[in-house]
Formats: sequence, C-alpha cells, structure tokens
Amino acid sequence: MLGTILYGKGDVRCEEVPEPKILRPTDAVIRLSASCICGSDLWPYRGLNDVTQPMAMGHEYCGVVEEVGSAVTSVRPGQFVVGSFCISDNTCPHCRRGFQSSCQQREFMTGAQAPMARVPLADGTLVATPAMPPDDLIPSLLAVSDVLGTGWYAADAARVQEGSTVAVVGDGAVGLMGVLAAKQMGAGRIIAMSRHKTRQDLALEFGATDIVSERGDAGVERIKALTDGVGADSVLECVGTKESMTQAIRSARPGAMIGYVGVPHGVDLDGQTLFFSQTGMLGGPAPVRRFLPDLIDLVLTRKINPGKVFDLTLPLADVAEGYRAMDERRAIKTMLRV
Ligand SMILES: [Zn+2]
Repeated sequence: MLGTILYGKGDVRCEEVPEPKILRPTDAVIRLSASCICGSDLWPYRGLNDVTQPMAMGHEYCGVVEEVGSAVTSVRPGQFVVGSFCISDNTCPHCRRGFQSSCQQREFMTGAQAPMARVPLADGTLVATPAMPPDDLIPSLLAVSDVLGTGWYAADAARVQEGSTVAVVGDGAVGLMGVLAAKQMGAGRIIAMSRHKTRQDLALEFGATDIVSERGDAGVERIKALTDGVGADSVLECVGTKESMTQAIRSARPGAMIGYVGVPHGVDLDGQTLFFSQTGMLGGPAPVRRFLPDLIDLVLTRKINPGKVFDLTLPLADVAEGYRAMDERRAIKTMLRV
C-alpha cells in the first residue's frame, strides 16, 4: 500500500510501504476512512525537530476495524472506530484520572497517513460508533481524533465556564477548535487572536465574539480594553512559541487559568513573571480519549461541525503538496483521501 514517510526537512514522500499487521494480541488494524496532516507534523517537516531516521507520518485517524488481536474485546472487525493520537490502556492510574495522554503504557500513533494503520492497545484507545456513520460526517469524526480533542482540552484545562471570557491565542486549526469548544462550554465572550481574514471568518463561525489582530503589547492592550482592563478568565494557548506563551500569560486576569496545547519550542518561562501573574497553567498532549465518547456524540447528533476546519482535500499521493500548503499557510488543515 501507499504510505507517508518523512525523510528530512521539507522532504515528505508518498511511497510503497508494507501493510500493517497485528504484532501484539492487544493490537487492531483499521482501514482508514480519511486521514489528515497535523500542525505538529510541520515541526519535523520544517527541520525544527531532528529527523534521525525516516518517519512514518500520520496520527489522526478514524475508520473501520479490519482485524483485531486475540486479546481485544471491546472492538471487532466491521465496526467504525475513532481513536486518539495517544495510545493508552485506559486502565492505569493516570488514565483513570482522565490523563490518558500520560498513560503508563503510552505510545504515540504513527503511520496513519496511509490507507491502513495498526493501533496498539486497541481496547483502551479506540471508541466504536453505534452504527456506520454517514459519509458527510467523516471529516468531523476525523477531527475528533486530535485537532478537536486538543482544542477541547485547551478549553477544559483553562476551565472555561458558562458566561466566562475566553481569549484564544493562535488561529491554526487547534485554536479554531478551541473557539468551538469554548462556545460549546457556554463562554459568554470569545476573543480570537488572528490576523488572517479566512481564519477570522471561521473563528466567527465557530463562535468567536471578538477578533483581535494585534500582537505583543498592542494585543495585550486590546484584550484589556475589551475586558474593562481586567484580562480574560480563561486563555487557550494554541501555538507553542515564546511569543504566544507570553501573549497568553499577559492576556489572563489574576486567578485565570491558561490551557496550553501548542508543543513548546524555545519557550522559557521567567519565575518572577509567572509568580506575579497569579495565573494557573495546565497543558500538555491532550487526553483526547477522555473526551472521545462525548465529542463523537456531538458530531453524530450534528451539534458541532469541526470538519469545517479542513479547507484543502487532496489524494494521499499528493501528500507533499498538503504539507507545503500548510507550511506556507495557504491551507489551515489538509485532509487526505486514502
Ligand atoms: Zn493508562
């Protein structure tokens, strides 16, 4: 079959790879309904993470179970499933407390930019839908497995509540999903920080009430002006740079929570600044597994449409163009037909 391999900076290829097999009794092999490219795939693509050996790319997936190992009991061949980009047993102490992305048996999903993929710890990682979903819901179900789950976690970690004021730093796909999540959680005001017209429009569609296009000091000033000089109750940091983290901390009111889900690159936090900001921070890789049942239900009942975040769809063979389009910010998020 065809699969996606990253060889180094700017060098991603669609090429012939072996079909996945059951390696352990707890594995499943699934046939993907669609795949996509993640913003985090751009870190190694841009050479910001070292690529020491060819990497089988892709960690967002949904599709039909093809085969399961002898120990798998909760899913069976023929079922439609959605899984998290973090592999988890869903039984260890961290999983039981809702932090499946720190599972004691954690692995990260790989090789899902392909027609088929192996999912380890299938019982703990996969959630089956009650029936085969209609085709038009596939993009939204695919979004659940990482980008929506991560935006949702940012809002959850930032303790977004009914009526609260939320600032979202970052207008990438995760930031836009954070806007959607904050809206679902009943936020009264959602300030999206974005300088790009198409992303601003999508943020407004997902529930943003205000757009701030300024950054740095000017951005902080605008947020303060919009909140009577107070700052936001909850801030979602969805980028992972020093600038975005600083923006998030300075946009928060004392006592606020910051949910940070952008993988930090070059972020150094100053102890004194953090101390006097009096803000709480919770972040990390999203425990998407915790949210899967509820998010799948919201999609199947058509209460949310996170699939709108895909603004480019390409055949798997053109995966390299999908990476380029996201790298050059011509596309927010690329879906791949497999
Ligand atoms: Zn676990």
